[in-house]
Amino acid sequence: MAPYTSALAEELAPDVLDRFLRYVRIDTRSQRDRTSSPSTPGQLDLARLLVDELKAIGLADAELDENGYVMATLPATVDGDAPVIGLIAHVDTEPDTSGTGVEPIVHRAYDGAVIELPRDGTVLDPAAMPRLAEKAGHDVVTPSGDTLLGADDKAGVAEIMGAVAYLAAHPDVPRPTVRIGFTPDEEIGEGATLFDLDRFGAFCAYTLDGSTLGELQDETFTAAEAIITIEGVDVHPGFATGKLVNAARLAGRILAALPADLAPETTSGRDGFIHPYEVDASVARASIRVILRDFEDDRLEGHVALLRGIVEEVAASEPRARVDVMVRQQYRNMRAYVEQHPEVVEVAEAAIRAEGIEPLRTPIRGGTDGSRLSEMGLPTPNLFTGGHEYHSVREWASVQDMAAGAATIVRLAEAWAQRAGAVAVAKGGAVS
Ligand SMILES: [Zn+2]
Repeated sequence: MAPYTSALAEELAPDVLDRFLRYVRIDTRSQRDRTSSPSTPGQLDLARLLVDELKAIGLADAELDENGYVMATLPATVDGDAPVIGLIAHVDTEPDTSGTGVEPIVHRAYDGAVIELPRDGTVLDPAAMPRLAEKAGHDVVTPSGDTLLGADDKAGVAEIMGAVAYLAAHPDVPRPTVRIGFTPDEEIGEGATLFDLDRFGAFCAYTLDGSTLGELQDETFTAAEAIITIEGVDVHPGFATGKLVNAARLAGRILAALPADLAPETTSGRDGFIHPYEVDASVARASIRVILRDFEDDRLEGHVALLRGIVEEVAASEPRARVDVMVRQQYRNMRAYVEQHPEVVEVAEAAIRAEGIEPLRTPIRGGTDGSRLSEMGLPTPNLFTGGHEYHSVREWASVQDMAAGAATIVRLAEAWAQRAGAVAVAKGGAVS
């Protein structure tokens, strides 16, 4: 007996898997430094397929806009002031792992042993992957070894589609109006950029873009980027005595002065970090790109001040160099926005419990579309999908956990319908 979280999940599983296997075969890898939205045409192929499938389900207004966003409406089955809720997933996969020719493999009733994939000698070793080790008995989907799987975020897309198909076919299940949004270019940080909040028209939304079964995330990093530029004085080394100022050496001193215990490789949980991720250096000129992350605004400001202090000290030691630091805010911890509407998380917790799962409240050491959507005025926490080892050729997903994700969406619609009266009263009926 395969370990489903509920009879509903078991019922949803074949449809969710069928859709997932169809979506992952489409190459939707996004591309940095985009000149159009979406950044790549493959994303439109999946977007068009999703519009067709939404229409086939009966969502007549399903539509692809000029920027590659798919939106559709599942009408309510309850009367009154139930708030419109949104379901969001991204169609693109990340730029750095091949997404061309994905050939998914379903390992039925996984035996818990090492999984050897047919291509490139890729191996999934449960000894090194505790989450995989927990899934013995599940049906596990992997790629063939030379591409990513694309569960990030096609698991989320398939779960939304499976849940919406179920709800559309079961008008007896109480639900508020549900808006569906599929976004492009999330992996290059642009998923929220051209998201039309007015057109979406939801009170709150949920991204299906998490990982481990039960995850409910309403905290992301607060994020800044710093670009340090150094101009040295380039002189032929044979005539350099007392004249040459080496920008590359100054860059090296800045890097060496960064505290080792404030790095992504030495921190976890709720700790932040300073992470130089790209250095370009010559005698005449050097630049260092640094990302700074924390969960608390004041601690992030502390990291920025620390970085500035290091740069100023190095700059002061060599007045002939020109040193400049530019810092820009990238996104903020969504908690500040989501906690203004505690019911958004409460209802999601109730839905996860209704599916027989204990909610797992972990902060995201990164950002999501929801970080910026929340800041833009749409509170958008993140839910699990059942996919793991994202952004790698060892990416995998559990069919049972994906089905649990779809079932949780059905419970979420039910929970919002039940909650509708209370929310309308609490807000003086002003929810829209
Ligand atoms: Zn994702």
